[in-house]
Order: sequence, then structure tokens, then C-alpha cells
Amino acid sequence: MYNFIDMHIHSTFSWDSEMLVDNIVNLAKEKNIYHIGLSEHLDFHSRHKKSYMFFNYEECIKKINEVKNNFNNLSIGIEAGEPYLYKDEYEKYLEGKKFDFIMGSVHWIEDLSPVEDRFFLKYKNIEDAYRIYFEEEYKLLKYGNFDVVAHLTLVHRNGKKFEKEFSYEKYKKEIDDLLKLIIQKKIALEINCSGLRMAAEDLIPGKDIIKAYISLGGDLITVGSDSHRYNHLFFGLEKAYEILMELDVREIVVYKNRKPIKIPLPVKEIIKDEG
Ligand SMILES: [Zn+2]
Ligand SMILES: [Zn+2]
Repeated sequence: MYNFIDMHIHSTFSWDSEMLVDNIVNLAKEKNIYHIGLSEHLDFHSRHKKSYMFFNYEECIKKINEVKNNFNNLSIGIEAGEPYLYKDEYEKYLEGKKFDFIMGSVHWIEDLSPVEDRFFLKYKNIEDAYRIYFEEEYKLLKYGNFDVVAHLTLVHRNGKKFEKEFSYEKYKKEIDDLLKLIIQKKIALEINCSGLRMAAEDLIPGKDIIKAYISLGGDLITVGSDSHRYNHLFFGLEKAYEILMELDVREIVVYKNRKPIKIPLPVKEIIKDEG
């Protein structure tokens, strides 16, 4: 029995994806994926205006309704970039629109993205780059108004090239503050698999941080491949499930109508079957 869930998929309704909804759905069926979540980009940053203008809500909903006959376990969501900085635009955009879930992300810090080398080179001390990133995440969470926090430690996806000493222990104070706020606001923590295929070579966030989230009382976890290309679709789900199993997590969540639905993890069988 397979029940892989991928709640972070970009289709061509996002400006930077090559994957058609029809193909995503067919591949999900082919690979026995239990549930998928489309998380289309909605960024307001001036360098990214394209994506907020690019996303076509009406067409997207039309497409989703069309494919639902073929694959019903499907959630439609958006990944909102820095909604705390563009509150008016963001809140106005949501008026009259229905999504199953909204992810909140920090993709830009002023005019640089924390996945670019240039972002890290700007700081004399690498720790400052990380701390500034965590401050932005704190502002994002403080504002809230979304359901799932995407790639909480995105800074380390590429930052590992510059900050070899990164660990939960080293940034415990900053990270615990974020985790407490996530739990207090009933926001779900996303385990993002994109780091496995990049410099970090790890889940985002990694095992120690997931463990800390659980020990602080967190129980809303989503898993996502953050894929934009076919070769990344569903990538890393096994690894994420394996880590969750090691941490004795029994359920993860999907979202429908902005409400979390807990799905049990029959993980042991999956790992065996995959192996
Ligand atoms: Zn993102
Ligand atoms: Zn994404």
C-alpha cells in the first residue's frame, strides 16, 4: 500500500515550471501517489512581478476541476512570497478566491534571494546572513495568514557552501523562536525535499529541526518535492518519509478548503517496496 503525498508541486501555472497539470496527474497515478498538492507561485516582489501577474486563477481552477475526474486526491494551493511585506496586495488578491492551502515563503531579502551566492557574499560574517534570513522568516510567521511554512531553512539550501558549521544547535535560539511561533499559530511545517538535490544535500529543514518541532509540541507536517521539472517530481519523498519514521511521526497532513487532514503513514511497507 503506497501513500506518498507531495504537497509542493509547481505546474505551468507557475512562471518557472515546465510541468503540465495533465502530465502531473498522470504521473501521480502511474506512480501510485496518494495525494498531490499544486502550489503555484504568487510573488509580489518587484523582481518577481511576473509571477503574480502570471498566475491565472480562473484557468487554473478550470483545469483542476477538469482533471479531478481523473484524480480526486488533489489540492490546489499557492506559494505566497513575502506576504507580510505586501499585505494589501496579498489580501486583496485572495478576495473571492478559494484555495485548499496557502504556503508562505521568504524568497527575497531586499534585492537578493537567499539561494544566490551574492546574498552570502554581502555579509562579512556568514552567521549574519543566516540570522537575517531567520529574522525574515520570523516576520513571515508573525504575520501568518497562510497554512504551511515552506522550506523553513531555505537559507541553507545553497548556504552550505559558505556555512559549513550550520546546525540546529548553533542557531537553536533563532530556530526555536520560529518553531514556537509556527506551533502557536497552528501553521504546518513543510519538509521540503529540494535540498536533497542541491548543496545542502539534506531535507529542508533537516532531521534535528524536525525533531525539535515535534518535541516542542508540533504535529502538523507536510512533505513536498518543490518540483518544477519532471525529473524532480516526487523526488525525495522516500527520504522524507524515512526520516519521519525514524522520528516516530505517525501522520502527516494534506489540506482541503484550508483545513488540515491527517493521513497515517504506513511507511515501513513503502520503504521495503521501494528498496
Ligand atoms: Zn519556494
Ligand atoms: Zn516552490
